[in-house]
Amino acid sequence: MNLCLVEHLDGVATDASLQAFTLAAGLGGETHALVIGPGGAEVAATIPAAVVYVAEHDALDAFAPDAWAAILCAMPSRTGVTAIVAPGSARATDAMARAAVRLGEPLAANCISATPGNPLLLTRIRWGGSLLEEARLHTDCALLTVVPHTLPAVAPGSPGAVERFTPELADADLVVRVRERVAPPAGGVSLTDAKVVVTGGRGVGSAEGFVVVEELAGLLGGAVGCSRAVTMSGWRPHTDQVGQTGNKIAPEIYIACGVSGATQHIAGAKGAKRILAVNTDPEAPIMSVADYAVVGDLHEVLPAISAELRRRRG
Ligand SMILES: Cc1cc2nc3c(=O)[nH]c(=O)nc-3n(C[C@H](O)[C@H](O)[C@H](O)COP(=O)(O)OP(=O)(O)OC[C@H]3O[C@@H](n4cnc5c(N)ncnc54)[C@H](O)[C@@H]3O)c2cc1C
Repeated sequence: MNLCLVEHLDGVATDASLQAFTLAAGLGGETHALVIGPGGAEVAATIPAAVVYVAEHDALDAFAPDAWAAILCAMPSRTGVTAIVAPGSARATDAMARAAVRLGEPLAANCISATPGNPLLLTRIRWGGSLLEEARLHTDCALLTVVPHTLPAVAPGSPGAVERFTPELADADLVVRVRERVAPPAGGVSLTDAKVVVTGGRGVGSAEGFVVVEELAGLLGGAVGCSRAVTMSGWRPHTDQVGQTGNKIAPEIYIACGVSGATQHIAGAKGAKRILAVNTDPEAPIMSVADYAVVGDLHEVLPAISAELRRRRG
């Protein structure tokens, strides 16, 4: 039997969790789910697992990675699971790494497929997306995280049963805790959910230069992203960064402007259905992964596209 950790936001299971559930279900046997924290019972009602466990505790109102790890570690003895699968989000990966240490088991992160058996045959994305690793995992309790946007999400459905419980947490489990949340500017489209992402790289030239990127994203109902060169320069917050150490996104179209297309950047944009590159350099690496390219200065190209969109919309 295997268990999928389901993260949720505003009372809804995250897409990445439902994608992880698909991998868990493919391992065979019953698939159970674990939901942690307030609102878990409502989320549980939408997960098509044989059993959904809902961990409820006053201290779970904020993310605490060691508390999550403690709960994950209690699950094998509680339910007899042989694999724990989690989405490859920052929070779930953090908790799974801590759980792996506590259980003394290896953590196979960034999986995109798993063939049941002993050993378990895994395909993992390595080196920022430039390598696919075929691995054999010998263990009685496999800990896996799943790369977001690489598998279809399971359709919501009713669980066979929901079991609410109060986990035992030690003070040490609550030392590391989210203390504050800073909401993104109101009205914006979330980068990870946006159908259109317009990203600016170092080629934008300055924080002020992003006005043309924001304008186009606004006209297309999309979100603004950026490269690490941009966050390192302090032009945009890290929450806007796309890449290996930033957001993993899967828009219908990714418009990369003044971005060279380093492996670590593309690692975050691999889920995009189409890529349009705007770059002055026809030899830039981004050109080799782009479906469409405009060779030119983004400060001329983007305003021209925006003007044309405005003209067509009257
Ligand atoms: C461990 C590690 C993790 C990393 N994680 C990430 C990550 O998560 N995300 C990420 O982005 N990077 C990441 N990086 C950094 C990455 O390797 C690159 O350095 C970075 O992506 C480069 O950003 P850039 O494309 O904006 O800048 P550059 O590589 O400097 O490219 C700028 C591009 O803009 C073009 N250009 C210049 N002027 C114009 C203009 N006026 N109009 C149009 N085009 C123009 C240039 O031709 C060039 O192609 C990571 C690196 C490491 C080592």
